[in-house]
Amino acid sequence: MIGLGRFGRSLAGELLRGGHEVMGIDLDERLVQAASGELTVVVQADATDETVLRQLGVADVQHAVVAIGDAVQASILATAALSDLGVPDIWGKAQTEQHARILDRVGAHHVVFPERDMGVRVAHRVTGRMLEFVKIDEDFALIETPVPQRFADRTLIESGIRQEFNVNVVGVQAPDEGFTHAQPDTRLVEGSVLLVAGQVRAVERFAAES
Ligand code: ATP
Repeated sequence: MIGLGRFGRSLAGELLRGGHEVMGIDLDERLVQAASGELTVVVQADATDETVLRQLGVADVQHAVVAIGDAVQASILATAALSDLGVPDIWGKAQTEQHARILDRVGAHHVVFPERDMGVRVAHRVTGRMLEFVKIDEDFALIETPVPQRFADRTLIESGIRQEFNVNVVGVQAPDEGFTHAQPDTRLVEGSVLLVAGQVRAVERFAAES
């Protein structure tokens, strides 16, 4: 994990919880100290220096994430260094489309836009009844939304939701219970929460139904 700012640390923490070993690298001594008890190895170093990265054994890692956003030049140089070292799976964090294009050119295999993606996600939650919105593809999303009143006390098959809205209900959470797979005979009750997949406009139309 190159860059131990808010994004890098949060991502590193989740990887650790998933049982992975994580080496963190940052220029900032305070951040290195703060993360030193948390990650497998934490090193204060300049990640744009390929020789330093090689000495740290970075050529042998399976995945690398360049979690540097603001310092665009450092993000590009660190990505290029990882690519030259032959790291097989390099992830970059971009602030703009231009930045993403350059990361791609210098060897990033995947580029994410956390601020932009979170903005899209929150916009759907702010304006609709959605509890969650996850864009899967340019025009496909998975949302979490309360069951519209008029479908309460019907089974999923009786509700006709798929035919009317062209969406798929994939999970259902009854009040005070956990999510279960949606089955044709799953009963919807007032207060149920649905996980619904479909084209963006279709899931938006469904979530606007009350
Ligand atoms: P976040 O939003 O995740 O908190 P940020 O936008 O505050 O990040 P960035 O400028 O994106 O900060 O940098 C993230 C981290 O990357 C910082 O902690 C910074 O010290 C570190 N960093 C920047 N340049 C280098 C470099 N050349 N080598 C190692 N770490 C670096």
